[in-house]
Amino acid sequence: SYRKGGYHAVRVGDQFAGGRFIAQRKLGWGQFSTVWLAYDTSTSAYVALKIQKSAAQFVQAALHEIDVLASISNDVDVNSKCVVQLIDHFKHAGPNGQHLCMVLEFLGDSLLRLIKYNRYKGLPLNKVREICHCILLGLDYLHREHGIIHTDLKPENVLLISTIDPAKDPVRSELSPILERPEGNINGGVTSLIEKKLKRRARRAVAKISGRNALLGGNEDPKSGRNLDGIDVRCKVVDFGNACWADKQFAEEIQTRQYRAPEVILEAGYSFSVDMWSFACIAFELATGDMLFTPKVGQGFSENEDHLALMMELLGKMPRKVAIAGAKSKDFFDRHGDLKRIRRLKFWPLSKLLVERYKFSESDAHEFSEFVLPLLDFTPEKRPTAQKCLEHPWLKKMENESGVENVGVGMSNLKMEPGK
Ligand code: ADP
Ligand code: MG
Repeated sequence: SYRKGGYHAVRVGDQFAGGRFIAQRKLGWGQFSTVWLAYDTSTSAYVALKIQKSAAQFVQAALHEIDVLASISNDVDVNSKCVVQLIDHFKHAGPNGQHLCMVLEFLGDSLLRLIKYNRYKGLPLNKVREICHCILLGLDYLHREHGIIHTDLKPENVLLISTIDPAKDPVRSELSPILERPEGNINGGVTSLIEKKLKRRARRAVAKISGRNALLGGNEDPKSGRNLDGIDVRCKVVDFGNACWADKQFAEEIQTRQYRAPEVILEAGYSFSVDMWSFACIAFELATGDMLFTPKVGQGFSENEDHLALMMELLGKMPRKVAIAGAKSKDFFDRHGDLKRIRRLKFWPLSKLLVERYKFSESDAHEFSEFVLPLLDFTPEKRPTAQKCLEHPWLKKMENESGVENVGVGMSNLKMEPGK
């Protein structure tokens, strides 16, 4: 991918925008871009530099993302709203072409890394509540104040607010560019022995410190999840490359597979409520460490059909009216609203799944299900809005260390917005 039209190869110390930004280390990458920590010499602050691939379709996508981000970043209120801030943008000419670069506020690790860091055990429910609250504030803001649908909500696209000073993390600064390079050697050639050795050493060191970026300390018992006490969990929604306006949509097929809503599979049209479906999938994943739906192609059925079957095994039968309403409905359903090729479904309701597989207490399972299930309504219009969801009692409940529940104690540093 480091070729004409692809990623721009960056080295530590590279300068951008006439020397204003200096690359420090790679923060991450996606299908469209690499993202670098950069020092902004004009403000003496750290920023995230998202450097897009240079081919025409990526330039187009970046212009679109800038368009969306600019429309929300003009808002004085944006910081409190759990959505990433666009600071600036510019073009950068490199050997692989012209790259659009977005200057974004610097954030921490993604929720995906947080889940991995916790060894896929599921986070304590209080942490899940805090994160859910933040994501909902972001969604409510996007949906209600800007009419924007994110359309690609997933743990990778929600970033924690960084708690470290990048200048004071030399180990990570040194290692990350080696570890997080998208496709191995940026020169596209044979990886040298020295580089292999460096990588091995880097992996060992990072295994020791991984997660430290966003998460301070933690116990080291490999059999259990880590101790996440004392971590102030706040986060922001990022990656607006696929976002659209409810009244100005671009794609029929949206969302990453596991977080995709049923109406998208059926091509029955969509609106804000697709984000609410993805949000419910994220809440489950945070609480259990597992993805809610992981459909697979099988003998005689497609990934889409398996996906619909998994949904119905968890949520019950899809109402016939909904099942037959999409342009693709006939591919999957007969006229009675039954799947054509997967005939026997094993119903396993959410609260039972939480108790039996994830060892939730009966009451935790019950309450968490009450929060999540309405968001997974097959009828999109029946799903609660982000605004409505913010009022849910489950979010307002805090448990203290001994597990005794206190209703109505504030979210440590996140104020609920009553009546808003
Ligand atoms: P793409 O559109 O290519 O998927 P993203 O916007 O999702 O790009 O960014 C790719 C990755 O870069 C993210 O998953 C994250 O790890 C990192 N990243 C993106 N934005 C920031 C930011 N503002 N601060 C820190 N890291 C970021
Ligand atoms: Mg992304």
